[in-house]
Amino acid sequence: MSILNIIKYPDPFLKTHAAQVKAVGEVSRLIADMIETMYAANGIGLAAVQVGAAARVIVLDVPDEEPDDDGEDRPRRRVKGKNLVALVNPEIVSATGTTVFEEGCLSLPGETANVERAAEVRVKGLDRDGNPVEFDAAGLFAIALQHEIDHLDGIVFIDRISRLKREFIKRRLRKAAAALEQAL
Ligand code: ZN
Repeated sequence: MSILNIIKYPDPFLKTHAAQVKAVGEVSRLIADMIETMYAANGIGLAAVQVGAAARVIVLDVPDEEPDDDGEDRPRRRVKGKNLVALVNPEIVSATGTTVFEEGCLSLPGETANVERAAEVRVKGLDRDGNPVEFDAAGLFAIALQHEIDHLDGIVFIDRISRLKREFIKRRLRKAAAALEQAL
């Protein structure tokens, strides 16, 4: 396995529409590398497009939600591998409700924004062995699934916020990219 380079915004590859995977065996190495890359980057999800592969593959390991008895935000405790999911050709079958969550993305380091998404989704796809799976998701897991599936259609989370906020973030990221180029 190896750790892959995560493509950063505004790299145009992030606009790639990933292709359906015809045989899961073709992406088993990619899946293993994506899982390793996600953990190395401390992410809770990663889409193949983010590592330069135009294939419909996502991996997620969303920590369990802590009981919210005093209304305070608590850091989620990650038990690595506990909720690990790899999905090939994932598809949202149905979506209900709305929720707003402050999202971030490994391709837009340091940036976060409130994004409105469906509160609950039903997702289907293939697991790592090529078996069909279909399940319901809620909470942060549902949000992360929508975020990662978006990547497979060339959509990043700032595409789902107001234009004004998006332009502000874009400008800051372009400046950061330019400064990095100068530094190299
Ligand atoms: Zn992302």
